[in-house]
Amino acid sequence: ENADTNNPTIFDKIISKEIPSTIVYEDDKVLAFRDINPQAPVHVLVIPKFRDGLTQLSKAEERHNEILGQLLYVARIVAEKEGILKNGYRVVVNDGVDGCQSVYHLHLHVLGGRQMKWPPG
Ligand code: 5GP
Repeated sequence: ENADTNNPTIFDKIISKEIPSTIVYEDDKVLAFRDINPQAPVHVLVIPKFRDGLTQLSKAEERHNEILGQLLYVARIVAEKEGILKNGYRVVVNDGVDGCQSVYHLHLHVLGGRQMKWPPG
């Protein structure tokens, strides 16, 4: 319903802690928390604290390069903390309608703890 807009999303309230979440990692720029509807034994969302136009990956601009790199590195930190570094894991970004994106604040899904299938549905 808030597709492709700059409206606030539920993730703003998770960042401000108005809405509780189980935080796995936090620094000044990045927050990682457990997905409320996990699709795997490990399912963590990694988001920028400052959306700065990154409603979705397809809106990325060159000025976002640093935060984009940080998000991927935090995905790796999360995988290590969650004990899935050795067996492997999946990092997913759903973009837009065809990508089944539902929250328009860029987020990486870190999924693991079971054998993934490919291709996804
Ligand atoms: P998307 O479908 O946009 O790629 O992923 C959005 C994800 O956010 C979904 O997996 C959904 O379960 C998760 N989500 C939506 N609302 C909340 C919430 O209030 N708390 C948490 N922890 N996750 C949420």
